[in-house]
Amino acid sequence: MKRFDCGSLVPGCTFHASADEEAEVVRRAVEHMRTTHGETIIRENMVDNIKARIKDEEKV
Ligand SMILES: [Zn+2]
Repeated sequence: MKRFDCGSLVPGCTFHASADEEAEVVRRAVEHMRTTHGETIIRENMVDNIKARIKDEEKV
């Protein structure tokens, strides 16, 4: 599993996305950025910022 914690990019946000595929995590994270954080956060390097913060998550 891959996991992205929005709080690592937007301090204070508790949203996280996890999926088997990194691309799916990125897709969900971008959707969250658009719907929740709007234009203030979206920049052309946003996907790179998200990818840099995606971590492997151990299955419990
Ligand atoms: Zn967020």
